[in-house]
Amino acid sequence: MPAESTLLLATLFVIAAAAGWAFARFSDNKQRQADTAQLSADYYRGLNYLLNQKPDEALEVFMRMTELDDEAIETHLLLGSLFRRRGEVDRAIRIHQNLIARPDLTGLQRDQALYALGEDYLKAGLFDRAEDLYEQLAESETHSVDALEGLVNIYEQEREWLRAIEARQRLEKLLTPDGRDVIPHYYCELAQEALKRKAFTEARQFLKKARTGRNRTARGAMMRGDIARELGDCELALKLYERTLQQDPELLSEILPRAHGCFTKTDKESTERFSRLVTEWITRNEAIRDELAYASIVNGLVGVPVIDEAVLEYVRQSDALAALFSAVVSDETIQDAGAIHRIHKALHRIAKRSSRYRCRDCGFSGAKLYWQCPSCKSWDTTRPIGHFRFESLLHPGVVTG
Ligand SMILES: [Zn+2]
Repeated sequence: MPAESTLLLATLFVIAAAAGWAFARFSDNKQRQADTAQLSADYYRGLNYLLNQKPDEALEVFMRMTELDDEAIETHLLLGSLFRRRGEVDRAIRIHQNLIARPDLTGLQRDQALYALGEDYLKAGLFDRAEDLYEQLAESETHSVDALEGLVNIYEQEREWLRAIEARQRLEKLLTPDGRDVIPHYYCELAQEALKRKAFTEARQFLKKARTGRNRTARGAMMRGDIARELGDCELALKLYERTLQQDPELLSEILPRAHGCFTKTDKESTERFSRLVTEWITRNEAIRDELAYASIVNGLVGVPVIDEAVLEYVRQSDALAALFSAVVSDETIQDAGAIHRIHKALHRIAKRSSRYRCRDCGFSGAKLYWQCPSCKSWDTTRPIGHFRFESLLHPGVVTG
């Protein structure tokens, strides 16, 4: 047993025993004094077992205690929680089941024990049992929010999106709504599953519902754009990609290759139309040049004049990159299509090796876009890193941003 946990448990039991002793000492009731003295003796025995690294023997002592006062129940709950946190879920479950079976618990104590047992089951991967307990507690006065959060967590893990929607709606009735609305993402997940089955109409219906939340996610417009493109309606796809960018400019590196896919790469006129579209984006927001250059580098998108120009500017702005490339490409030839292509290719290789997405909430970074962060489980917090300082690879210590 790690020293820190042992110390914590020991402190717990000393407090509990001391409280019991004080109560007995100042109580006039002889029977109460005798009961409390017995309780204290049991605690010391349990504590002794714990200190001697015999948690099972300690557990037996606690299980056999016939009568528990409020402090003892509180201590049992803390002990169970400590066992769970240490990964000893079986012991936590035994403690909490034992507590629930006792007839002398108040309503609140019973709810606390039920909720704790639900957490044990969740940790043990026994989702069905946890779900049953949380469902029981969803209407309780004290644990409804915790229980509904538990249900949402289970349904998200099991990807049961319709049930997640229902649980989240119940939860939102109890909470003051904040800016974030997760339900549209559940509909997007349902649409994603329908898309895998090529059930486009069904996917569209889910995406329509995704637009009814408190705040829309740009993901919905992007997915509708993908459906339109898949069905050959490029004009509509481009409109929806535009809408995605208006809602969330940070998704540029996702939208750029999608929009490019709507044009025929080998056709000169088609390339010019794509070039005009990108020029419009830049005219609307001059500040996106760097993001555009980076997005084209990470997506390996080369050969579109306006984007190639942005990449060259991007390289020239960086002293380190400009110096590096001037060593292999002269000032006169840097404008050549072949030279731009080589620069692009070199940067593309570096960019592919770096983390391209980061969660705003917890900083988790990875190589692909997760709509739910795998680390902190927040929704819609991971975005492409809009700009990467390639110099950071040349001079370690320079922070990427
Ligand atoms: Zn995160």
